[in-house]
Amino acid sequence: MHASPLNNVTIVGGGTAGWMTAAALATVLKGRYRISVVESDEIGTVGVGEATIPMIQRFNQLLGIDEDEFLRETHGSFKLGIEFVNWGRLGDRYMHGFGRIGRELWPVGFEQYWLRMRALGRAAPLEAYSIARMAGKANRFMPPRHDIEDSPLGEITYAYHFDASLYARYLRRRSEALGVVRVEGRIIDTVLRAEGPQAGHVEAVVLDGGQRIDGDLFIDCSGFRGLLIEQALQTGYEDWTHWLPCDRAWAVPCESAGPLTPYTRSTAHRAGWQWRIPLQHRTGNGHVYSSAHMSDDEAAAVLMANLDGAALAEPRMIRFKTGMRRLAWNRNVVAIGLSSGFLEPLESTSIHLIQSAIQQLIDFFPDRGFEPADIDEFNRQARFNVESVRDFVILHYHLNQREDSEFWRQCAHMDVPATLAEKIRLFQSHGRIVRFNNELFSEVGWLQVMEGQNLRPRRWHPMVELQSDDATQAYLESVREVIAKCVAVMPDHAAYIAQHCRST
Ligand code: FAD
Repeated sequence: MHASPLNNVTIVGGGTAGWMTAAALATVLKGRYRISVVESDEIGTVGVGEATIPMIQRFNQLLGIDEDEFLRETHGSFKLGIEFVNWGRLGDRYMHGFGRIGRELWPVGFEQYWLRMRALGRAAPLEAYSIARMAGKANRFMPPRHDIEDSPLGEITYAYHFDASLYARYLRRRSEALGVVRVEGRIIDTVLRAEGPQAGHVEAVVLDGGQRIDGDLFIDCSGFRGLLIEQALQTGYEDWTHWLPCDRAWAVPCESAGPLTPYTRSTAHRAGWQWRIPLQHRTGNGHVYSSAHMSDDEAAAVLMANLDGAALAEPRMIRFKTGMRRLAWNRNVVAIGLSSGFLEPLESTSIHLIQSAIQQLIDFFPDRGFEPADIDEFNRQARFNVESVRDFVILHYHLNQREDSEFWRQCAHMDVPATLAEKIRLFQSHGRIVRFNNELFSEVGWLQVMEGQNLRPRRWHPMVELQSDDATQAYLESVREVIAKCVAVMPDHAAYIAQHCRST
């Protein structure tokens, strides 16, 4: 039987998740559905989430967003990767840079040749073969030059830092121009259908003034509260704090100081870590920590003692529980954003998970039939996406050799998910990295963290030795030289912004 299409899509919440969803659906649905966003200025948004990964470019392109305009509007800067300080041992420093490392040299991956040469003392550090890392270190940036063939300059991969509240405001303006209706008010009740084949589905939300907003499909973007997915439907939450023990963050903006770095910095402290996100007008900072291992006062003091410039506000505390909702899609409610769960902000993946959930929603967009097969597949994919990011984030905590605190010792000795343990074993034997089912982070991402946090394979791929060591060394050296030359012609990051997208 043919089920009829939906009419009303109601988005509950107007944070980054709510407005990204509204803007994307309004673009795709071309005015044929009624889309509403209900949000409450009084409640506000979580107010953090300023670093991204390169896939966000694709999202903005699909929405027809001009990059320079977007960066001007959001006070944004460019991001070539994340620098990790003190994560392996105190004093260690490495970068997880975007894009590729080295150049392919058949029959095995570049890293395999590098592993052997490093063991022989005949290779430069891994960063020397990555344009993102070398450009980041030199505070240089430019977008890729696709007109230059076969050059690292054509392969520059980047993301953004931006002011999340300005991004939401920008997307709101675009969404409203496409016909999305914004409703201001505090939701105090949810009405469930009492009977019929869709008994138990959400029928409407009710605002504090009594106004009722109906919907056929509800997108829960209400943040940690999970107003519909949890408070109304009691879907349940899978708690991952035994793997990701940080549960609080203090956040504070400060004045910019020093050069505008084209990368995020993550500095590990005694019971967590601190982010530093450089925007055009200020720097965003936050200290993510485990409240079981550090008091709130001490965590705030650590943050305030480690700012580049004067604080621009009082620090603000955010509490969270790492984990995921048992189902992201339950009945006629799809949870997107913090309502669907939260991992660490360590690899800046939350906004990306919003983006991939929106894409999945488009892939499995329902009609009034709400087919269980579609919903199950959506939930399977959502789980896979989150679990693969979870493993990558846990890797950073687990692979530490710090002995200076109980927190780090606990992380080093904890049991990790079997999928992660398998990845570590593979790397330890022959430096092999397998990307499971097109998971988000590529082999190069895993390599940089494993190597940067001192995981050393016992051997390398045997086929590396089919080529003479002299030839391999000459090859590595030529790659290193090309990258150094490319970085030398790249403009300074701040100068590039001044020329293309400086905000007023
Ligand atoms: P929120 O911003 O909380 O929005 C919820 C919305 O629901 C608001 O509009 C609110 O008014 C509305 N609402 C709630 N209850 C009601 C009600 N009763 N009635 C009406 N409206 C209601 N992500 C990244 O990608 N990169 C990062 O660097 C990053 N850093 C982070 C650091 C921290 C410490 C945390 C906690 C998160 C970080 N994130 C990061 C995640 C990122 O902040 C979120 O994924 C993103 O902001 C989306 O939030 P949201 O829209 O789901 O929720």
